Amino acid sequence: ETVKLQRLRDVPAITADGAKVTLLANLELVRDTKHATEAGAEGIGLLRTEFMFMNRSDVPNEEEQYEILSTVVKHMDGRPVTVRTLDIGGEKLAYSLGAILDDHVGDAVNPALGVRAIRLSLREPKLFEAQLCAILRAAAHGPVRILLPMITTPGEVKQVRDIVTRLWLRLQRRGVDLPDEVPPIGVMIEIPGAALAADALAQTADFFAIGSNDLTMYTLAIDRADERVAHLYNPLHPAVLRLIEFTVQAALRARIPVSICGEIAGDPRFTPLLLGFGVRELSMSPMALARVKQRILKLDTADAARRARLVMEIADSGRIAALLDDMDGLA
Ligand code: PEP
Ligand code: MG
Repeated sequence: ETVKLQRLRDVPAITADGAKVTLLANLELVRDTKHATEAGAEGIGLLRTEFMFMNRSDVPNEEEQYEILSTVVKHMDGRPVTVRTLDIGGEKLAYSLGAILDDHVGDAVNPALGVRAIRLSLREPKLFEAQLCAILRAAAHGPVRILLPMITTPGEVKQVRDIVTRLWLRLQRRGVDLPDEVPPIGVMIEIPGAALAADALAQTADFFAIGSNDLTMYTLAIDRADERVAHLYNPLHPAVLRLIEFTVQAALRARIPVSICGEIAGDPRFTPLLLGFGVRELSMSPMALARVKQRILKLDTADAARRARLVMEIADSGRIAALLDDMDGLA
């Protein structure tokens, strides 16, 4: 079985009816980069940069961040690397940012609804600019995309785009090695309001990455860290699926790339449904790649789309789950 999965590594992910699916890896540590290429990832769909700020008492400077990011970009050897800017705040913490977080989060009653991710970055220009400069410089070594976490409005994207353009020009004036163009700037769709406004966001974003983990948490108002409500956490809730479907539709209409990078992307049980929605880009833990690919090879996209429409007519997550298991049996 393991050998069979390994042999799949160099097989392109193409459905039985010939649709190409791009399979990317999520990274949370630099050493995972090797696992990503070993597992046959066609690029990095989500590089979580939080690890750079963890297990240390000071904040890494631009140079340190550049070293780490350029290592990943070089290792990926021409394959795209999607770098997500810092997603800290709320309950995601990092010791090195202690003082900064005290200022912004402090005694917030609902930290998950407070200063987190892009909200923190926009309030800490020095921190944000160092990270963005490191990303821009790493982009000189291969295709890089910038991904923004916890976006809610097009205004935030425009604000970031202005900052990125200004930094790019500044670095260029200094003669720093840069890519020919400013990298694409995409947004995580992981807040229900962002999903419902996906058509507006698609006008300012170069691509979407759907974060189904937070999208599920915020849609259902379930704190995943709270065991007492964990049993209610369910990405198959029709509300979550409708938001995902709406987001994918908006991206397809605006002709911008859309990927899914939450846990469901790496769960073969969801593969027919996600492809049925029109998704052709999935990003997951390197360990999950082979099994998802195996599922894709047997799939027919017209059939998946038909079944996805059936699923969307069901309002009960238990019955949706049963229907997905049914699809599994048929493939
Ligand atoms: C998500 O929310 O689905 C996601 C991919 O981001 P993270 O799990 O890092 O919050
Ligand atoms: Mg998230």
